[in-house]
Amino acid sequence: MRICKKCSEEKPIEEFRLAKAGNGGIYRLFGCKKCACLQQRKYYQLNKEKCLLADKIYRKNNMDRIKQQKRKYYFRNKEKIIKNIRRWELNNTERVKDLKYKWAKNNKNKILTRAKEAVERMDDYYIKRLLAMGTNWKSANIPQEMIELQRCSLILTRTKREMKNV
Ligand SMILES: [Zn+2]
Repeated sequence: MRICKKCSEEKPIEEFRLAKAGNGGIYRLFGCKKCACLQQRKYYQLNKEKCLLADKIYRKNNMDRIKQQKRKYYFRNKEKIIKNIRRWELNNTERVKDLKYKWAKNNKNKILTRAKEAVERMDDYYIKRLLAMGTNWKSANIPQEMIELQRCSLILTRTKREMKNV
């Protein structure tokens, strides 16, 4: 147990963060985690611009490292992250709609390229859309056999078109 120099509460030693000392050693901070957090927040609020700039510079100088950390974190927590996103989407349908709309507006070229690729590769996604067109079918309910049939028909049409062009 140890007494925090800031809030004067007695807390277990793990409640005091480890920090790097100038001589390369490690020591525990005098304030508890809660106080350090509060202090950090206060400092941030008083020095917002300075903090943001420092953060920007850090991120710029450590881009690869941060990317790697993020990737590692993602793979370790993939299921949890996806679940959280889904839950958030369900609770924010209007916002999701808005975000999707904005994203689409700013990424027209990306969308066009992706769509073209889907057509060329004859993705299930594209074929389902073709099948659902002009019907009230839900693309999730279309059976795989039907998708395969449509794909065959598409190949036929494309081959015919190519033969005409030769
Ligand atoms: Zn404290």
